[in-house]
Amino acid sequence: MILSASVVLPITSPPVYEAGILVQDDQIVEIDSTERLLKRFPREKHLHLEDCALLPGLVNLHSHLEYSFFGDICRPTAFLPWLQRLIKRSGSFSDDDWVESARFGARKMLQAGITCVADITRTGAGAVALKETGLRGMSYLELVGVGSSDVSQEIERFENKLVGLSSLMGEGLIQMGVSPHSIYTLSEEALRAVRELVDQNEYPVTIHLAETAHENELVRCGSGPFRVFSKRFGLPFTKELDKFHSVAEYLDDLGLLNERTLVAHCVHLSDEDLKLLKEAKVTIVTCPTSNQMLRVGQAPVDEFLRWEIPFGVGTDSLASNPGFDLFSEVRKSLKPIQVNEGNSFDFGLGLRMLTLEGAKILKFDNLIGSLEKGKKADIIAVKLPSISSDLPASARRWTSASSVEPQAGGQNLSRELYSKASSEGVKMVMVNGRIVMGKP
Ligand SMILES: [Zn+2]
Repeated sequence: MILSASVVLPITSPPVYEAGILVQDDQIVEIDSTERLLKRFPREKHLHLEDCALLPGLVNLHSHLEYSFFGDICRPTAFLPWLQRLIKRSGSFSDDDWVESARFGARKMLQAGITCVADITRTGAGAVALKETGLRGMSYLELVGVGSSDVSQEIERFENKLVGLSSLMGEGLIQMGVSPHSIYTLSEEALRAVRELVDQNEYPVTIHLAETAHENELVRCGSGPFRVFSKRFGLPFTKELDKFHSVAEYLDDLGLLNERTLVAHCVHLSDEDLKLLKEAKVTIVTCPTSNQMLRVGQAPVDEFLRWEIPFGVGTDSLASNPGFDLFSEVRKSLKPIQVNEGNSFDFGLGLRMLTLEGAKILKFDNLIGSLEKGKKADIIAVKLPSISSDLPASARRWTSASSVEPQAGGQNLSRELYSKASSEGVKMVMVNGRIVMGKP
């Protein structure tokens, strides 16, 4: 099939105007001018996306699809009361409810142009929903609420579930990983045991880190709201944590920070923490809307850039984000950098973060993240922002934009897309060569 549009933005090479992509089976075979492609491959089915840009599918680095039915608790509130509401709400959910909720979220994500997701699932429903809806991604099985007793049984149960889900996922688009939830919902023994499990099997890991200042408070002084919270859920800390300065130091001491680890949120980090994260070779995902909603602060993205720690963006769940607009997430995330850099801000950075950089963080960049021959056909069509509505029709055509942006990076196009694109403008979504949204 040939997909064509006003412009193709491959990310790893300059934009191509009035161009198309030849997709055969699950792969990108050719990118060329629409005219030439149609001449060369006259028998191929052709879908033209008028006034759209074709981009690689977006990569969402943090979500909990199974909480997609929890939109009613999504309102500005403090973190702990929100978490308690979430736990209470979870108590009334059946296995079927979890799957339905995750399915609902997965469909919404596809509609928003997200074709690959790093999703955390406590129940396993997230993995099932990914497989059913045809999303690509990493499904991290979550370990949460394990105290100091019965740790080996808990880990055994967890491992069995993980192995079961892995075989259910098969050789498809989903890879399984492990998510020890956080330091305030798992005892030190549980964190140690899960580290052994992931090390033995080289599982990718994601963990919530320094989302709130309370985590550092717990580690530094053994006090604060999380101490009370953890005790209430039967999670006494068996060791005095106060020998550590921060949650990052504590997790590093447990051996949980390395190149397979994606740390989520990272709002409260010191310079020492950043140095440690850099040396440990972890990657970071920020969730700006969720952080705003739960009033936990803003991740120091300028510091991530300064320390050259790879980072990307995630939406988090619909329990703390009203939607899955990843374009808006990246704008919020990079705003401090854009303000700092003014005219020299690289708008392409935002688009790369949504695609190639996200894919790199998940180590999927050999498959996805850019539009190139031989890569998997994860492609979205996004309506071009109508920046030139005050110009004559002839000048409005995006073909003419090439004349105003001769430079290789396509900075004008990048700027407009970065500044104005939204999930609502997504008109077509293809994952692995299959159109899952926007079929003509
Ligand atoms: Zn999360």
